[in-house]
Amino acid sequence: MASSYDVVVIGAGFAGAIAARDLGTRGYSVLLLEGRDRVGGRTYTGEAFGRPIEFGGTYLHWTSPNVWRELQHYGLKLDFPHHIDTVHWLADGRVHHGSAEEFGQAAASVMARVAADARQWFPAPFEVNAVDTSPIEQQTMAQRFDSSGLSRYERDVVEGVLASLSHSYDEQGVAQLLLLVAAYCGDWAGYFESIGSWPVEGGIKQLYDGLICESGAEVRLSTPVAAVQDNGISVTVTTRAGERIDARTAVVALPLNTLGDIAFTPDVPLASRTMIDQKNPVLASKIWVRAKGEIEPFQTVAPIGQNPINVARFDSYHDGDTLIMCLCSDASAIDADDHEGVQRALRVFVPDIEVVDTASHNWGADEFSKGGWIWHRPGNLTGGAAQLRAVSGRVRFAGSDIAGLGAGGVEGALETGAAAAREVAGVLADGSY
Ligand SMILES: Cc1cc2nc3c(=O)[nH]c(=O)nc-3n(C[C@H](O)[C@H](O)[C@H](O)COP(=O)(O)OP(=O)(O)OC[C@H]3O[C@@H](n4cnc5c(N)ncnc54)[C@H](O)[C@@H]3O)c2cc1C
Repeated sequence: MASSYDVVVIGAGFAGAIAARDLGTRGYSVLLLEGRDRVGGRTYTGEAFGRPIEFGGTYLHWTSPNVWRELQHYGLKLDFPHHIDTVHWLADGRVHHGSAEEFGQAAASVMARVAADARQWFPAPFEVNAVDTSPIEQQTMAQRFDSSGLSRYERDVVEGVLASLSHSYDEQGVAQLLLLVAAYCGDWAGYFESIGSWPVEGGIKQLYDGLICESGAEVRLSTPVAAVQDNGISVTVTTRAGERIDARTAVVALPLNTLGDIAFTPDVPLASRTMIDQKNPVLASKIWVRAKGEIEPFQTVAPIGQNPINVARFDSYHDGDTLIMCLCSDASAIDADDHEGVQRALRVFVPDIEVVDTASHNWGADEFSKGGWIWHRPGNLTGGAAQLRAVSGRVRFAGSDIAGLGAGGVEGALETGAAAAREVAGVLADGSY
């Protein structure tokens, strides 16, 4: 049965949620189609160990303008991060131990060298193509490390620091790192704090639920979309179940790694099609660990390939035990349910740690994400992603995976979702469509 809406928004992650909210509150009729049986996308406040747990995107920051505006709009606060007493970092074949400040100093000089030219290539980070970036857009992270004149120790430090964002230094480009560091005025530590320190008090769920609730949109869960056709006078969205839905416009807010499952007519620009075919290389995982007893707050850091857990960080005490958040660059390198394997990986740093329980969500195996956060292959940040954002007509694209400023985080999802909504509202209001 055909229906008619002003806008169909496809995907109920943060990009889709804010697009639906901004169009719904402007008075347009919005249908929000979501493949999963829940909203929130790659952010997901679930339950484990008898308490709420963030399985996906967690940390937000006041320096992200869209994030901060929405937190304030819904009256949400950020929780203080816990102070870490000791950092254990694997470099040059052995584990080093020091305070958080000492590790910060070890990382600072190396990171500053690796990202020294960030502002040269992205002088106005809100416009990724403000200058010709071709000399660095083709450079992989590994090539950047090779050309930075690093000692073995320095290279391990930088590969450890960046492991919490990465999957493969040979596959990922350096441009996204430079853009995001440029966004923090060249201060890599500021960028790192923004993406990894401050959780939402009471859970990030409140933010995505707030947006969707205020949108007034008709929300259909468990409704994966298979095709989107702009036929010149309307948009026809076809679900996997074969239902055809007509609307004046559509916002597509899907992860890069699922865009290839949708038939677009007309097709997306060539550079964007190439990016979709190449896919986001990040197949990382986040594992929550419950360790026996109350352990002194610690953090571990390991380069990719040298330990299956690249970052483990104290989160909180819970019922006499310690909860630890672990990031693994390669989800296939460790089985999150194998308590002994997880314990073995952690014992490299904390020899007497006892793992009692673990919890995780496999984002790479999940058919509605097929991967983690975006970290582009060479060429796609300023190419395919920028071109997909610029698509005009009845179908617009949004999502953290195609964001410029804010790429890879909730900020990028909110920014692109709000931008798509502004453009759609503009054309709907002037009667063009
Ligand atoms: C483990 C992990 C930790 C992270 N940590 C942080 C962090 O601390 N801070 C931060 O800012 N960011 C973090 N991120 C990144 C952040 O979560 C994402 O960048 C952001 O949530 C993406 O939002 P989005 O709306 O662009 O995409 P998504 O959230 O992926 O939303 C897309 C939606 O589309 C739906 N969908 C997919 N295919 C179809 C289909 N065919 N039909 C209909 N619906 C479909 C999906 O189910 C999903 O709901 C993390 C990500 C992961 C995986």
